[in-house]
Amino acid sequence: MWYRADMKTIVQDGDPVLRALASEVTEDMFNTPELNHVVADMVEALDVELDGVAIAAPQIGVSLRIFVVRYDRLYPAPPSGPLPADIGVYINPVFVRASRRREEMDEGCLSVRGIYGKTYRNQRATVRARTVDGGTFERGGGGVLAQVFQHEIDHLDGVLFIDHAIDMYEIRRGARDGQEEKVAIEPNESDMEIESDDQAEVNSNKSHE
Ligand SMILES: [Zn+2]
Repeated sequence: MWYRADMKTIVQDGDPVLRALASEVTEDMFNTPELNHVVADMVEALDVELDGVAIAAPQIGVSLRIFVVRYDRLYPAPPSGPLPADIGVYINPVFVRASRRREEMDEGCLSVRGIYGKTYRNQRATVRARTVDGGTFERGGGGVLAQVFQHEIDHLDGVLFIDHAIDMYEIRRGARDGQEEKVAIEPNESDMEIESDDQAEVNSNKSHE
């Protein structure tokens, strides 16, 4: 059966697969139904997460160096409605360039549900990767796309954004009134050297990767 109808659940923080160093996709795996299955499962899992902009294979429990981006979700949908799905598949991605300049970004993760924080990400980054049929391509991006590249390649190396984020907080939904509540999370000692005067703002356009 080439198509699996079961909905892929997204692995949550605490599962060892998120902390493993994912394996390279080997030459014999390109152009196979198996590799296409993994990518299709990732696309499917991401599709139903309406605030998700990207997903890495370990997030569906597959320890391979693959991530998928929804370019159409990098920015809030225009007033005319959501854009059609525009999907990028990156296999064995590596950075070929990154800007020295870094910027503070708001960040969340489909595998660390409800937790948000600020990270410092290179403003621009260029990634070289393979396609499912084994081709090679490069794509550069700035801002949110550069952030996505860094967040996803971190996943392939067993790193989560909460390992280095600052100003972290949790969004909890009140049991009685259903109102969202923002609860600050005490920073790790390793975050103490970074100073920030900014208060994290709750906004309605949270993206998850
Ligand atoms: Zn993530």
